[in-house]
Amino acid sequence: MKKIVWLCVFASSLTVVTWHGSAQNKQAISLLITGGTVIDGTGAPRRRADVRILGDKITQLGRLQPLRGERVIDATGLMVAPGFVDIHNHSERGFANDPTARSQVLQGITTLAVGPDGGSPLPIGQYLEWCEKQRLGTNVIAFVGHATVRQRVMGKDFKRTATSVEITQMAELIEQAMREGAVGLSSGLEYDIGNPATTEEVIALAAATAKYRGIYMSHVRDEADLAFDAFREAIRIGREAKLPVQISHIKLGTVGVWNKAREVVKLIEAARRSGLDVTADCYPYDAWSSTITVLVPSRKHDDPAAVKKGLDDVGGGQNVLVTSCSAHRDYEGKTLEDLAKAQGKTAVDVYIQIVKDGGAGVVCKSMVETDIKTFYQQPWVMVASDGGIGMRHPRGAGTFPRVLGRYVREWKWLSLEEAIRKMTSFPAKRLSLSERGALKPGWKADVVVFDPNAVVDHSTMTQPALEPTGVKHVLVNGVAVVADGQMTGERSGVALRH
Ligand SMILES: [Zn+2]
Repeated sequence: MKKIVWLCVFASSLTVVTWHGSAQNKQAISLLITGGTVIDGTGAPRRRADVRILGDKITQLGRLQPLRGERVIDATGLMVAPGFVDIHNHSERGFANDPTARSQVLQGITTLAVGPDGGSPLPIGQYLEWCEKQRLGTNVIAFVGHATVRQRVMGKDFKRTATSVEITQMAELIEQAMREGAVGLSSGLEYDIGNPATTEEVIALAAATAKYRGIYMSHVRDEADLAFDAFREAIRIGREAKLPVQISHIKLGTVGVWNKAREVVKLIEAARRSGLDVTADCYPYDAWSSTITVLVPSRKHDDPAAVKKGLDDVGGGQNVLVTSCSAHRDYEGKTLEDLAKAQGKTAVDVYIQIVKDGGAGVVCKSMVETDIKTFYQQPWVMVASDGGIGMRHPRGAGTFPRVLGRYVREWKWLSLEEAIRKMTSFPAKRLSLSERGALKPGWKADVVVFDPNAVVDHSTMTQPALEPTGVKHVLVNGVAVVADGQMTGERSGVALRH
């Protein structure tokens, strides 16, 4: 039997101590996580060890006996790891609805970086102060978004190249954000506002970021047929602006580039050998969920040739599953190919009809599993969710338990130690977080205790909010936000500044 000694009264008094800083640390309560197996986040092999925490810090690791009056978490049979660090998270607005960040901490996330894909809060300083006032369930760090500053400077007139004066103004906003604590510049060059930017514009802005030792993190210009050009562009930006590059949710999203992950690996390893610090993250899903019309980017939804190209790019109508369709409820749960066969039509005909009748929600295959596996097996690829509070894709609630349950335990793609490294010390280092991402004496007590035999995701494309199981305890700055699998309601996260 597991013995969980956790009293809310004690937990909330500890919160007060932690929140108001270390000056009152003499009131801090000592906590021992005992009987567990420690995976310290560095990639080192697991070992039997107890972990002592005082206030918001880890103080000791080893074979330890409980002190008199010390609180104890019995972790017998469980793994004890650093809290997970999510470098790509869209919770910036979701925090207003749920400051406890339930869907995030139940996965074991203790620090998340907001502002990816070119879209961020601005000013960053004001946002981080808001986070502090809200008191959040996770620690937060922020990127400044390229599209955000681009729109701030160019207004609605962003569908063109920027002038040198405008680029200077954008650079000033970025430098201000960096001084206020942003960790780097994010871009989303595939999206409406970022896409008209030239590579030279982004290089100039990345150079402004580099002055403050920030990184450049990009949703690259194309994740489909032109993905290789897009990766080369990201590498060029890093090389010319002289800063580290993070490729967001690395992907090969169309038939034309499927099964080419080994070639991407070669491209990126060549850049790494030449001295460029380039890394990537990858989410553990092979499908996206959106409205049917995104399949035809030209928006020519009644043009059979354009529709055919859109369906061919995802491998045909059998890869497009209708999940919601108000005009035809009986279509739900069927693929375009199923519907075409039943009606004696083509998938193109069915697409055109559905759009005419008001559209549909679809889930669509974006990647082949062998490519995801290849990426996950590279030491320079980390785990990130691209999710966040309220995300209507299963990655929002399932990413980290999914990697541990499916990729590690069931499919044996990588070791548990390596998976934990990809969730902790590696992203923490990328974000220049000090004293987080590993279990070490003197470091911050962001800790996850999970059951390696049970941890798994349950969220699906049709039920994206289903919560994972197997994550037992989550401590953020020494305070339990999850205890015995349940939310405590504590909000002990802090805003982190670069
Ligand atoms: Zn993205």
